[in-house]
Amino acid sequence: MHVIDAGISDKTNVSKADVSKIDVSKADVSSVWAAHDLSPEELRETLDEAGICTWSLDPATGIVVASETCQKVFGVPRAQLSDYAAILALIHPDDRPARAEIINQALREGGVYQFDCRVLRARDGVHWLRSRGRVQLGASGRPLWLRGVVFSIDDQKRAEAALRAHEEHLRSILQTLPEAAMVIDADNLIRSFSPKAERLFCYKAREVVGRPMTILIPGYAREPTKRRHRPKRAEGGRAAKAAGTLTAFKRDGSSFPVELSVGAISSEAEVLFTLLVNDVTEQEKAEAQLQELQAELIHVSRLSAMGEMASALAHELNQPLCAVSSLTGACELILARDGADAVPRARAVLKEAAEQVLRAGQIVRRLRDFVLRGDLERRLEPVLDLMIDAASLALAGAKEQGVSVRFSHDPKAKLILVDRVQIQQVLVNLMRNAREAMLEAARRELTLTTEAIEDHMVRITVSDTGPGIPGEIADRLFETFVTTKPTGMGVGLPISLTIVEAHGGKLWVEDNEAGGATFRFTLPVMSDGDATDAT
Ligand code: ADP
Repeated sequence: MHVIDAGISDKTNVSKADVSKIDVSKADVSSVWAAHDLSPEELRETLDEAGICTWSLDPATGIVVASETCQKVFGVPRAQLSDYAAILALIHPDDRPARAEIINQALREGGVYQFDCRVLRARDGVHWLRSRGRVQLGASGRPLWLRGVVFSIDDQKRAEAALRAHEEHLRSILQTLPEAAMVIDADNLIRSFSPKAERLFCYKAREVVGRPMTILIPGYAREPTKRRHRPKRAEGGRAAKAAGTLTAFKRDGSSFPVELSVGAISSEAEVLFTLLVNDVTEQEKAEAQLQELQAELIHVSRLSAMGEMASALAHELNQPLCAVSSLTGACELILARDGADAVPRARAVLKEAAEQVLRAGQIVRRLRDFVLRGDLERRLEPVLDLMIDAASLALAGAKEQGVSVRFSHDPKAKLILVDRVQIQQVLVNLMRNAREAMLEAARRELTLTTEAIEDHMVRITVSDTGPGIPGEIADRLFETFVTTKPTGMGVGLPISLTIVEAHGGKLWVEDNEAGGATFRFTLPVMSDGDATDAT
């Protein structure tokens, strides 16, 4: 017990560590309290130092006894605080009715009350005070006495006003933002909701404020943030785009795609986040439309190429059919002679006829595949097969035009992950252009090359001995509708470029030693070793 005594009586010298060592039992503490209760003077002094004024009112006489500090708190001499009506006059007129109601209730029912009000101090204007008091009722139900404390809450009101101004400022920004915006806290609860957001989600702000924002955008997952974590400078500044498109839901449950930008707002108290919600429905629709149009253009261009190749291909198809016709005729003759070796000979001839039928069937298949619209479909395709199929379409009848074709295939260039028809379209475009360029040339050599190159790519080259790219269009060669041909559309090269780039490759042209044009393009193989090892 003496240890406690020493500790309490010499308050200024007791460190926290000392006090924590004291072995305190409940009995000890209450006896120490009793012995060291503050005297009325000490109590008043303590209250004065804390800026808390005390007062009491005798209802019988209406006399108020106010402490020294009341002078400071109310800003008038103590004498002016002795009368209830005089005190009332100091209170801001706007706050009088509310105050009167609280006091009257306390006078009727007794007990503790509290109210905040402003006083008008002659010297320094308006100040906020908090008054806490108690009314003691007598047996008759009439008040015996009233007493209480009054202290300044200016600091608190100033902080509240600053917070309100801050929130108001934020709200006014939200009101004017062209995007739908909301402010959320660290728990993802919605704090504010802009009018544009109300329109977008079909919710009123009051319906969603306080609720988790994930009811609107369930897929939203912010990086976990500590409640009192202060965002880094960059984080506190401009809103950063959150990756990807998310699905948002309107009040009626309908969904729509959105992109979010998130910015952090930090204050002493907490970290809030502004979310700018960008409805990308229209954008996605436009992109889908654009893709649809592009697919259509690619298809139309293929059809047009097909139309131009039709006669050469009809001729190509005619060859196996003629062969079948003459082979079956020969077969008939062999069997008619009925010699000993007739059957094995006829069988051999029929086998040859069957092969020709297959060849014709293959031509028809290539034609059909090339013309079909089909969805974009990427598969692992052998480079060699692509080259052969494309050449058989584009180079039908080339021999008759005196075009010689050299094909050099790198066996290491095996599989590429592509849409077969689209890559064939590129090859057909390039081969046909080369062929057409050489129509007037003395030397007509078309060289096709495949190579497996570094970075898991395959490079395909279509080189001719024509006059080369006309100087006047060289700069715009890959632009749409650039053509030097009387019936050309000028879409072959731009479409080829689009297709190759969509596959992750590059397409370009070079002059070659023969004065002709060499077009090259690259395509990625699926993964490490695909170009060389896969079968
Ligand atoms: P189009 O063949 O309908 O003209 P392209 O986009 O395929 O459309 O080609 C555009 C132009 O590029 C051609 O008109 C031609 O002038 C030029 N060009 C394309 N390939 C070659 C080539 N191998 N040699 C010379 N010029 C070429």
